[in-house]
Amino acid sequence: MDTQLLSTNPTITIGESLTFQVAAEDVIQVQGVTKVYGSGSNTVYAAEDVTFQVRKGEFVGLVGPSGSGKTTMLAILAALLQPTEGQVSIDGYDIVAMKESQRVRFRRERIGFTFQANNLVPYLTVRENVELMLRLNGRLNRQGRERVVELLDRLGLSERLNSLPNQLSGGQKQRVAIARSLIHEPSLVLADEPTASLDTERAYQVTQLYADLIHEQDKAGIMVTHDLRMCRYVDKLIQMKDGKIEAVYEGNQAIERAINGYH
Ligand code: ADP
Ligand code: MG
Repeated sequence: MDTQLLSTNPTITIGESLTFQVAAEDVIQVQGVTKVYGSGSNTVYAAEDVTFQVRKGEFVGLVGPSGSGKTTMLAILAALLQPTEGQVSIDGYDIVAMKESQRVRFRRERIGFTFQANNLVPYLTVRENVELMLRLNGRLNRQGRERVVELLDRLGLSERLNSLPNQLSGGQKQRVAIARSLIHEPSLVLADEPTASLDTERAYQVTQLYADLIHEQDKAGIMVTHDLRMCRYVDKLIQMKDGKIEAVYEGNQAIERAINGYH
């Protein structure tokens, strides 16, 4: 791997003009976001006038039927997709106004992802897969290596440090992906259907662990899932339909009722 590329300065230098005035506790502010695909009779509103906030230490479940715009919203928050309209600020930075090069760096430093088809590097061990995120940020030193081992231990993978991804079960791979999404201490962690390939019992375990880590490390976390049962561990539940927010539930009782189908 190209070491020049990997030893970049981790400090973001972004002009003052890109900062927003936001409530101190809000990591994410999404304001009137719309994403349109296609044109004419092929126009699809993948997201339409979506507005919400996520605070530090808040774990949010984003649910809704297939095609309701969940992945679109996650990709916009990950600075991978530009909205057609609206504002998105993360840590007070206007990610829509950034230049692509700034977005690349912002993403690498401040955002952690987990995807369903967790894209672990097949020829790197568990430990190396997680270390990679520190390496990319020029932060792989002795302390970093120790943190990798501690986090993998916390995720029940201390026996698996030197295994390759294809030697792991689905649940173990998903936990490695979670470790990788958290190790570089991002402000925001995003997961798209992280438990879709797991059986129910394992899905609960992985989601609970994910929720615990987000709370302990005071991150803002968003988990997309079509399985409402996994939302028993979230602090806020956002329900999407046809690209719009249909309902938001906050507090244990409201979330519990939503999960059980009583409104
Ligand atoms: P979800 O993750 O909730 O299943 P998506 O965000 O993937 O929903 O999709 C929302 C809508 O946008 C769907 O109607 C989908 O077909 C459409 N869509 C998503 N990506 C594209 C794309 N690249 N081009 C055209 N339409 C898209
Ligand atoms: Mg999706």
